[in-house]
Amino acid sequence: MRLLVQALLGLTVLVLVLAVALLARAAWVFRDRFPGYEVSVRRLTTNAAPLRAGFGRVNITPEIGPGKPPVWIAGFDQGRAATGVHDDLFALAAVLDDGTTRLGLVAVDSIGIFHDDVIRVRQQIPASLGLHYVVVCATHNHSTPDLMGLWGPDVFRSGVNPTYRDRVLAGCVTALSNAVGELQPATLALMELPVDPAGLVTDTRKPLVYDPDLRWMLFRKPGSGEVLGSVVGWANHPETPWSRNTEITADFCGVIRDGLEQGIRYDGRVKMPGLGGTHLFFNGAVGGLMTTSPSVTVRDPFLEEDFAKPSHEKTRALGNQLVRRLLDAAGTNREPGSLQVPLAVSARTLRVPLENPGFLLAGMIGLLDRGHSPWMQVRSEVAVLRIGDASVACIPGEIYPELVNGGVVRAPGGDFDIEPLEVPPLRDLLPGRVKFLFGLANDELGYIIPKSEWDTRAPFLYGADRAPYGEVNSAGPETAVLLHGAVRELVAGATAPSR
Ligand SMILES: [Zn+2]
Repeated sequence: MRLLVQALLGLTVLVLVLAVALLARAAWVFRDRFPGYEVSVRRLTTNAAPLRAGFGRVNITPEIGPGKPPVWIAGFDQGRAATGVHDDLFALAAVLDDGTTRLGLVAVDSIGIFHDDVIRVRQQIPASLGLHYVVVCATHNHSTPDLMGLWGPDVFRSGVNPTYRDRVLAGCVTALSNAVGELQPATLALMELPVDPAGLVTDTRKPLVYDPDLRWMLFRKPGSGEVLGSVVGWANHPETPWSRNTEITADFCGVIRDGLEQGIRYDGRVKMPGLGGTHLFFNGAVGGLMTTSPSVTVRDPFLEEDFAKPSHEKTRALGNQLVRRLLDAAGTNREPGSLQVPLAVSARTLRVPLENPGFLLAGMIGLLDRGHSPWMQVRSEVAVLRIGDASVACIPGEIYPELVNGGVVRAPGGDFDIEPLEVPPLRDLLPGRVKFLFGLANDELGYIIPKSEWDTRAPFLYGADRAPYGEVNSAGPETAVLLHGAVRELVAGATAPSR
């Protein structure tokens, strides 16, 4: 009897010790790295001076080879060590200045950059650069080094090399600094090119809604018309070389940037001349998910050859399909471009409940390295920008296109069985003539799914025999509702005169 009591006592003590250790561990891994950090920006220029624009870029290609640490490629499965470099990765920056407001836009060849890392970038930006607001976006590239921790050698180990991560963050700062150094008078031409998604991108989840159009801000020198650079927006997962590729590549984002600058070339022969300048690619509403999977056959418009099997040639075909449209548009665009491009920024911190047990566990075992603020919530950010007649919704993750363009449904079998909450669609809320959406902006919260389409419990959507893909990589079912509300509120701040 005494032995039994002793055993029970021992067991209780053990359980208590384990619970305390677990709590202590959670307190450590989920601690807020930036206590007190809060963004609340509202700037609106009413009396703009002529626009100035500058561009910068920094090579962030990892070193691969004997004697170098392994480079773990992000996206798809774990254990994908890079074996070489097909083409270089970059952090690119555009800085815009209307005489009152100076805005920095950064696009990075990366799977995703957490908000904590965006804060680290901002903390490194010298005050002398005079930037009032900076948005840092990942292109969501699936052939780049892991910067989120989920794609190490196995499911238990992070793939993030802290030295490389620091290099990328510093690269963002240098790109911004270079762009400020290049500031010069500029005009802005805005273009919106309708694109048929067939043969380029597919949607893997109902409802089938895309964000297929190309949106473009083209900055030129006043007078000469010489191209300084541009901002391209399109929406698709950069994962064209697919899951077995072990070569670092900027994917179609790099093809677009290079094609616009240097022209379209095959075997050294110029098929279409380039524009010069520095071009940034920003990804859009890629949730749901938008992909050039092996099921999509892409026609190379110059080789007149079809590519289905994943390859770098398929990537080139996809990129050049888009570059061709952009170069054609630049050739026919006779707009003089605006010299007066007033800028506005409306941005705020957003706290998102972290309800995904997988993400919590990944934090506990040291994969996801980001703080909670407060506990079980992550600090994130939403912004609405106005760049003359353009607006930009900066969304911290992979938003489903129906939230942006309309078509959210009360999906049969959904967990909540509710009418769509996130209405009207974001593009109806946004002001201006050309309405951009930057996805993975200032954070990567994973998929942003309409609450009325959220599904983890049976019965499953549309009578399926298992849960759809998406929720497993999402913070939770409240994310879309919170974001929609925040954008609605910020739009008011980006249109009404500031007080
Ligand atoms: Zn994704």
